[in-house]
Amino acid sequence: MGGQAPQSAVTESPDATERAGAQLAARLRPGDVVLVQGELGAGKSTFVRGALRALGVEGPVTSPTFTLGRRYAGRVPVAHLDLYRLAGLGGEDPGLLEDYLGPDTVAFVEWPEAAGELLGPPAARVVLEHLGGDRRRVTIQAGGGA
Ligand code: ADP
Ligand code: MG
Repeated sequence: MGGQAPQSAVTESPDATERAGAQLAARLRPGDVVLVQGELGAGKSTFVRGALRALGVEGPVTSPTFTLGRRYAGRVPVAHLDLYRLAGLGGEDPGLLEDYLGPDTVAFVEWPEAAGELLGPPAARVVLEHLGGDRRRVTIQAGGGA
C-alpha cells in the first residue's frame, strides 16, 4: 500500500468516520499495522470500530483503556491497541506488544507515538482532526508516510 499521496476527507458524523474505517479495512492484509493518531475525542476509536466491524468483529468495540490492547476474532485475527498509558514511560520492553502483533493479525494502534521503536513500518497512518462540532478531517497515508 505504499507510495500514494495522502487521502483526506471530512466526515460530519461518527457513522461517516466508521465508514471511512471500513473502507480502509477492505484494503488491509494479515500482518498490517495501522497507526491512528489524533487528540482525545478526535474519533480514533470510532474509526477503528468501523474498521473492526468491516473485518467481521461482532459485539462491543470499546477503547482498551485499562489494558494496552484487545484482541478480537474477526474474519482474520484483529487487535486494537491504545498506547496512551505508555506515553512517557520511556523504557521499552520489546515484548510489550508481542501479544497483540503478528503476521496473521491486522492491528490498529491509537497513540502510536508512545511505542517508539516497538512498532515496525505501518501499512497506513490515519490522522483525525477536530474541525468543530461533529466535523472531523480524516487523512489516510498508505505506507505511513514515514
Ligand atoms: P478518540 O478515540 O480519538 O479519543 P472517540 O472515537 O473515542 O475518540 O470519540 C469521538 C467522539 O466524538 C465520540 O463521542 C463520537 O460520537 C463523537 N463524534 C462526533 N462527530 C464525529 C465524527 N465526525 N467522527 C468521529 N467521532 C465523532
Ligand atoms: Mg480512543
